[in-house]
This record gives sequence, structure tokens and C-alpha cells, in this order.
Amino acid sequence: MRVDYRFCPACGSRLLPREVEGRWLPGCPACDFVAWPDPKVAVAVLAHDGHGQLLLIRRGTPPAQGEWALPGGYVDAQETPTEAARRELLEETGLELEVERLEGVHHVPVGDGGGLLVLAYVGRLSGGKGRTTPEALELAMVDPARSPELGFSAHREALAGWRAQGG
Ligand SMILES: [Zn+2]
Repeated sequence: MRVDYRFCPACGSRLLPREVEGRWLPGCPACDFVAWPDPKVAVAVLAHDGHGQLLLIRRGTPPAQGEWALPGGYVDAQETPTEAARRELLEETGLELEVERLEGVHHVPVGDGGGLLVLAYVGRLSGGKGRTTPEALELAMVDPARSPELGFSAHREALAGWRAQGG
């Protein structure tokens, strides 16, 4: 979510443009606060069944509503990225994950103005009972070589990276 600060969240003064490291950013004339745009952090899950099949969801919510994607979502405060990966998969599909490794980190230059970093984890489906949810209208186990087009560039990169690493 983009936040357009007009007042200093530390002291309440009206923010004014300030040049910081060559960029003009909203800065507080009374204290050191600068509304610096930071990237958001999300996870994507390459969840496989141990036999080369990959779990995809068809998204029920924007963005990319109705398109195929990897399970995933934003990392919450006070949560580790691997906890976020397990939580998002469970919330969206009812399935449990044993995280194996990080596939890679993918940068998306859109969103809140600070961009998005997507941490893609590879893991094995380890339990639970698969179900559709408002976030995941369909679940599918697919051959990664025959995957439908995914709705997010970071997910396409993660899938290509995982396949290049040998799946
Ligand atoms: Zn201030």
C-alpha cells in the first residue's frame, strides 16, 4: 500500500520536500524524519509433491484475479519469511509445507512506489487437506514444463529459476 505522508508521524509538523541523496522526498523541517519509500516483501511458494508435480492456484482476488499463480503473499511484521510461506500456503489451500530452500529473490518495480521483493521458496507438500478458498478458486498439480502462463512476472521468474536449478 502506498502511503503519502503529509504530516510527520514523529512530531506532527507539515512535511516539506527535502533533497536526500539526490532524491526529493517528503521531510520534516522539525526533526530528522524522511518518508523514504521502502520495498515491500512478499513470498512465493514452489510447492511440489516429491514426484515433480508443482502446485498452482487460480487466483480469486486482485491483482491477477482469475489467473494462475504460485501460492504466496506479503510477509507480516514479526514473521520470518519461511513462516510467511507456510502460513500463506495453509491459508490459501489448506496444505502444509516443509520448506526446503530459497529458489531466489525477484524484484518487481511496481506497487507502493518502493517496489516489491519476492522471496521464492521451494518446499515439499507435507500434509493438510487441500481445499479451495476465496483466494484460490482452483488448485492444480501440474508438470512444470507444461505450466499455464502465470499472472505475475516474479512467479514466472521463480518457476524458470527452479526448473533451471533442476526442479
Ligand atoms: Zn518531525
